[in-house]
Parts: sequence; C-alpha cells; structure tokens
Amino acid sequence: MTESKDNLTPAMRQFHHFKAKHPDCILFFRMGDFYETFFDDAKTCSKVLGLTLTSRGKNGPDPVPLAGVPYHAVDGYLKKMLQAGYRVAVCEQVEDPKTAKGVVKRDVVRIVTPGTLTDEMLLEDKKDNFLCAIHLDAKGFAVVSWVDLSTGHFFVQRVPERDLLDELQRLAPAECLLADRRGELFDAETRRLSSDIGRLTHAIVTERPGWYFDPYQARQRLLKHFGAATLEGFGIGDSDQDLIPPAGAVIEYLNETQKTALGHIQSLRKISRRNFLQVDPTSLRSLEILQTIRGETRKGSLLSCLDETLTGMGGRMFRNWLCMPLCDVEAIEARQDAVEELTGAVDKLTELRGRLGNIADTERIAARISTFRAGPRDMLALAGTLGQIPALRELLDGSEAGLLRNLAERCDSMDELAHLLEAAIDPDCPVHLRDGGFIRPGFSAELDRLRSISKDGQSWLRDYQKQQVERTGIANLKVGYNKVFGYYIEISHASSGKVPPDYVRKQTIKNAERYITEPLKEYENEVLTAQDRALELEQRLFEDVRQEAATYVLRLQQLAETVAQCDCLASLAHLAARRKYVRPRITTDTRIVIRDGKHPVLAETLGAEFVPNDVELGAGSGDIAVITGPNMSGKSTYIRQTALLVLMAQTGSFIPAKEAEIGLVDRIFTRVGASDELTRGQSTFMVEMTETANIINNATACSLVILDEVGRGTSTYDGLALAWAITEHLATKVACRTLFATHYHELTELAELFANVRNLNVAVREWMDEVVFLHRILPGGTDKSYGVHVAKLAGIPKSILRRSQEILEELESTFAKEATGDRLARHKTKEPEGDALFVQKHKSVLDRLATIDLDNLTPLEAINLLNQIKTEI
Ligand code: ADP
Repeated sequence: MTESKDNLTPAMRQFHHFKAKHPDCILFFRMGDFYETFFDDAKTCSKVLGLTLTSRGKNGPDPVPLAGVPYHAVDGYLKKMLQAGYRVAVCEQVEDPKTAKGVVKRDVVRIVTPGTLTDEMLLEDKKDNFLCAIHLDAKGFAVVSWVDLSTGHFFVQRVPERDLLDELQRLAPAECLLADRRGELFDAETRRLSSDIGRLTHAIVTERPGWYFDPYQARQRLLKHFGAATLEGFGIGDSDQDLIPPAGAVIEYLNETQKTALGHIQSLRKISRRNFLQVDPTSLRSLEILQTIRGETRKGSLLSCLDETLTGMGGRMFRNWLCMPLCDVEAIEARQDAVEELTGAVDKLTELRGRLGNIADTERIAARISTFRAGPRDMLALAGTLGQIPALRELLDGSEAGLLRNLAERCDSMDELAHLLEAAIDPDCPVHLRDGGFIRPGFSAELDRLRSISKDGQSWLRDYQKQQVERTGIANLKVGYNKVFGYYIEISHASSGKVPPDYVRKQTIKNAERYITEPLKEYENEVLTAQDRALELEQRLFEDVRQEAATYVLRLQQLAETVAQCDCLASLAHLAARRKYVRPRITTDTRIVIRDGKHPVLAETLGAEFVPNDVELGAGSGDIAVITGPNMSGKSTYIRQTALLVLMAQTGSFIPAKEAEIGLVDRIFTRVGASDELTRGQSTFMVEMTETANIINNATACSLVILDEVGRGTSTYDGLALAWAITEHLATKVACRTLFATHYHELTELAELFANVRNLNVAVREWMDEVVFLHRILPGGTDKSYGVHVAKLAGIPKSILRRSQEILEELESTFAKEATGDRLARHKTKEPEGDALFVQKHKSVLDRLATIDLDNLTPLEAINLLNQIKTEI
C-alpha cells in the first residue's frame, strides 16, 4: 500500500482499520450503492469476478486500485468468491448516511466463508454445508466436530487417526478448521493433514490460533453457548473430555465470523459410526453412490436414481441415509413397515407427497430466523409450511406403522405462530426488507394510516380545501403545492380581507397571496415523511415478528426433522410402488439371497434389456464367489449390483428383485476399476494394493467385499499371484462374503482347494464363430478366456488372432500344471523350466497382450501393436 497514512480520507482510514483486523479476508467495503474493494483485494476481485479494475484518486500522486460490485447483486459475487476459495469480510455502513455526522460509521458485520453460509442463494438445496474442526490428540485418535450453520446441526465424533481422512471424505465439509501449530511439535503433522484435506476433499483449510482449541476455554465457550452448567446432557461425560476442544473451536469460529446470535444451534450430538453400515470413501466413490466417477456428477449416481424427496431437508436426510445405512434389524424393519404401508395406499401417498411439495426448507429458514437473516419471503414460506402440517398429521394419524404414527404425533403446526405470520406477512411481499410492502394491510393501524397518507393524500387535500372555503367564505380559495414552498393556500388579492388570522403569509404572486397553516404544515411533514416512516415501521414490525418466530426455533427444527423423515419414507414408498421393488427380508445371519436382482441404476437406463441375476452368498452357499467371464460380459455390473442392493436394503429401501433375504453387513469394501484412479496421480498398482491392504486389515466376518480385477495393475504373473493370495486369505482368515470378478480364470481352481469358495461365470453363447454375451450369471467357472474374441470384435486381423490363440493354449497348459498357489509363488524365484521356456521366450509379448486395455484400444493402436509384436516373435 503506497498511500501515506496522513493524507488518507476518513473512509480510507476506516478501510485500513478493518483490513488490518481481517488480513486473511477480502474486504467488501460498503460505499453507497456499491461494495468496493481496494488494493490487492481489488486486483483479486477483478480477476475472479471479471470486474473492471479502476482506481480511486486517479489524478492524485497515489491512485488506489479499485473494483466494486453493486450491493443488490452482492450474493452472486460472494458465491463466486467462495467458489474460488476466498473468505469475504462484509463491511457495512451501520448508520444512516443521511443523518451521519462526518464520515458514516462502518463495521464488519459478518465474514462469509464456505463453511458458514446461511443464504439460500449460496447453498445447495439437498446437501449439507459443513464447517468442521479437527483436533489430533497424542493417543492416535482424532476428534472431528462439524456443524451446518444453515440448519443448526452440530456433531462431534472420535475416530482412530488412520480413519480421519475417510471420515472427512464422507463428510465432504466446505471448510476445515485446524489449529495453527507453526513452530510446535505437531507442526509437520498439521501441514500434512492440511495438504491431505486439500487433496482429498474440496474443503478450504482455515487455521486458527491454538487457544481456539484450548480445552478449558473451549469448555467455557460451549457452556456459555448452550447456557448450560455441564455438558453431560449432551452425553459428554468425564471420559469424553477430548471431544470438547474441536467443538469449542467450531463455536468460537462461528462467533468470530457471524457476529450474531446462534440460537438455532441447540444441541451437540455425539456420533458413533459403529451403529451404521460403514461404507468407506473408496466404496462410496466406486459404487457411484453420491456421484459418478467420471463426470463427478450427481446424475447417474445411486442417489439421483433413488432420491424422490420433495423438500430440502428431506433431500439432505436421504443423502445421509444412503451414506449411513443401518445395522440394526429392528430399525430397518421399522422403516420397511412404513414404506410398505405407504406403498399399499397409493392415494394417501399421493396426497402426502402433494403436501410435502408445498413445504419449504424449514430447517434453513429457522437458521436464518435466529441469525437475523430471514427475509419476508422466508416468513411467507414458513406460514405456507405450517399451513400444511395439520393435513399432514391427519394423513399420518391412525397408521399401522409405528414410525408413521410417531411422525403424526410430532407434526407440530404451531398455530399461534402460523396465525401471526398469516396476519402479518403480505402474500405478495417482495424479496428484500429494503423494498417495503411486506406487512399485510390490517396488521397495524399506524402502518395503514401512514400508507394511506401517501396514497390518499389527494383526497385529504380536497377535503381540507373544501373546509377552508366554507370557513372563510372565499369561493376561489385553492390548496396547491410547489417544490420550493411545499403546500400552500392561495387567495386572490380581492379576498385578502377575509383571510383568517391563523394563516401565515408566505409568498406574494401577481394576483394572489399564498399562505400556510399549521395543519397544512403538519400534513406536509407527514406526507413527505410518511413513506420513510412506513418503511421504518414495517421493518420494526417485521423484526418483532422475527423475534417472536425466533422463540420457536427449536420446535421448527423438530418439525423440519419430522418432515424430512416423512419425506424420505414417502420417497422410498413412491419409488417402490412405481418400480415394483420388493421388500427384502433382513436377518442377522450371513446369508444373502437375491432372486432376479437388478442393478438399480443400470436397470433404469436399459429397461427390459437388463438381464436380472440371482445372488447366493454366505452361510451355506460359500463365502467367496469367484466370477469369471470375458470382458464386457457383465461381471462388474453383477458385483456392484449386489453391493448396491445390500446398501439399499439396509437403508430401509425396497429393492429391484423378485425376492431377497439380506443378512446384515457391517462394512462394505470395494476395490473396483483401477483405471479410474489414474487421474488422481497415483500409480494404479499402488492405489490398488493400498486399497486391498485396507480391506484385508479391516474386513470382519460380517463384511461384504467386492473385488474387481485385482492384480490387473501389474504384470500377469505378479497380478495373478497376488489375486490368488488375497482370495486365499479372505477365504481362510476372514471368511467374509466376497465377490471377486476376475479375468484370471486360473483362480477358479481355488474352489477346489477351499470349501467356502465357489465359482460363477457369465454365460456366453458362441454362435457361428461369434461371441454373444448373455449377461447371465451361472454356477461354475470358465475355462476359457475370451480376450481373443473381444479382440476380434475390435477388428484385429485373423492371422494374429490365430497366433494369439496358439500362445494362449500353450500358456493355459503351463498353468494347469501348476495348480496351487505355492507353485505359483515359485514363479517369481525360480528359473522357468520345460515348456515354461516358451512362456519366458515370449513373455514380453504375452505380458503386453494380457495387459491390453481392449475397451480403450483404437483400431489404429491395435494395428501398430500387432506390427510390433510381429517383429518380436
Ligand atoms: P465386465 O465387468 O465383465 O467387463 P461390465 O459389468 O462392465 O462387464 O458390463 C459391460 C456392459 O454390459 C455394461 O456396460 C452393460 O451395458 C452391459 N451389461 C452388464 N450387465 C448386464 C445385464 N445384467 N443386463 C444387460 N446388460 C448388462
């Protein structure tokens, strides 16, 4: 900054003052109808927001770079700044410029950061917007606390440190708070964590001084916030002291940034993942539960395929249901009972959903009410919402399902609040408070009077003129108005003798005199200020209504939760009815039996072309299924489908199948699709092995493991050996339900060695030398690799195909002689002998053939490859 402090204007002095207080924010400095930014902030904003960079004091010695945005469009600009990863301090004029003496007072009224949003425009409807704080302790645990300021949900959870990043990926926070530990022992650890968070989540990392996390201060802050004497009411007892620092840091940060009441954050919930089916982030991603892998879009994901919710809070809850399915038979059955009942009563369901469709995002409105940010439309929407509740209760009342009855009881229509809003808020109200016209006529006599003054001014004047004519007997007395003198009474010179003494002469014109009177002066005053006063009064009345509404925040939040649950159950029922899903039987053993199951997403895209398949896994049916078959035959689809159906079932959803029995699963692990990880900048094989290690280390006898083509990322024999050893381990040591899709048909031999391993294959029909995939999963292994057939489909010339077939047969006979895993391992250490020499000789060719990614090979690449191979043979 080049400007010298002495010759600063008072406004610029204010700017420097606030900028110094908020050095890590872009400062939006209100000046009249604009928010201005200066110096480097201006340069940043002009780049991020595409604004023209100008300068203040252009002709002076030290012009200041300047870029501004109009105040009425600030939301859109804030959104862009946040998306670009900036925090913005909003500095408002806090007194009326008209009445200010000297420079207008200003203050930073809030700091807008990605994790602390409440404005509807800045938020996604059906997604939570979390701010989280992380605290590492020395005992290998991390504590995470997170809040959604836009809804008031506030949580804390202890996780083993190695699971921290998993947890964060699952939460997908918008912003993470870490203690600034520069120079401390933990410094390096914090740096690493900070960079991991940046890499794995889209959150911005915000560092705050260590005292934010100080246990004593954090506790005091929480007690003060909740107005409580102890935290035991939130389940935080003596053994949970480690939960306090990050929760306290969250509250401190909200105080710092919001500078307003946080009355809607009414409780702190302690979370334990143990009560839920755990789906690690890799599985969330590779099973495409929340978004697709390639496009990273919601469309095409399981969530978008199943989500039929109609309200924002319902949508957010549904998302959480899918990420955290249940692990408890009773709880799942309770949801199923509700879904079943609603599915069977279509009219009721339709009406219920009709009601839900008219319900606004009560949770977020409640948050805006308690942070002083609710606008007239929020109140109107709330009134509309409360109006739906009695009918909702009636629909749910008398239900069979306990969950629905329970919801009925919790339908709180808050009649008094509803009446107040109904009476107070004009149904045609504008969006912003600044525009006026949001308080309904009839609500306040004074407001009505002020409004009628400005509107009915003319008739008052007419009446007054008539009165004065009668009083004075001057027939041509006129009441008029001009800009300089305001209202006046005009009387011709001829009648000047009749002018009453209370008339005060103001001006003489050619033929007449002009007078003013006390009532006229008062009237003028009133008319001219009536509009301003009406607006002021409206705002005061609105504030009273808001304050009254603020006393309902807890009840509004409970209502929002009730509506959200109702919305989720109705959504599941709607889907089940429309798509003819069935209710799976949930048990506590380890059997999974699905008849004619379908992949929920693909079945919607393919319709009748989708071939349903059976699944039998677990107790009595073998723990591990090895599925072999050519590429593109439907192996991945089948194994993913099984995981998705289990996940849906444990959510309480019905599933696309004829019938199903699901033995509860405690965790789902997947290792799918190596190629998709390449873009993340890690070696395929490394990623694959890290994820596999995670599975091996964490799977329990109740887990479900989905493995797709493990071992593909390395050379054929390494890959095969690893795949073999991993399956062997899962079969003998863990014995958990596992589906393993592989193109190594050699693995089918495992079924002969272990009783709990079974083979499945994908039916293929060969017809006139062509291969047709039937997508049908059958018992038994394949003894054939169809890679060569697929190559043919891709257009590789016949001579080459013939040669590959020969090579393949040689290879297969070699492998057949080495039936066990032990011997397999020897491959790595011993010189090959006998016919294995053949293998050695052409190993490079074979390796290359085995690793060709046929799905992505262009015909031209195929020709080039073949040319090379030919020169090597
Ligand atoms: P693989 O894992 O064996 O290479 P995929 O599971 O990726 O094969 O399936 C390849 C394609 O086959 C899918 O994109 C889909 O279009 C089709 N497909 C898979 N399973 C089925 C099925 N059960 N019914 C119909 N089409 C299917």
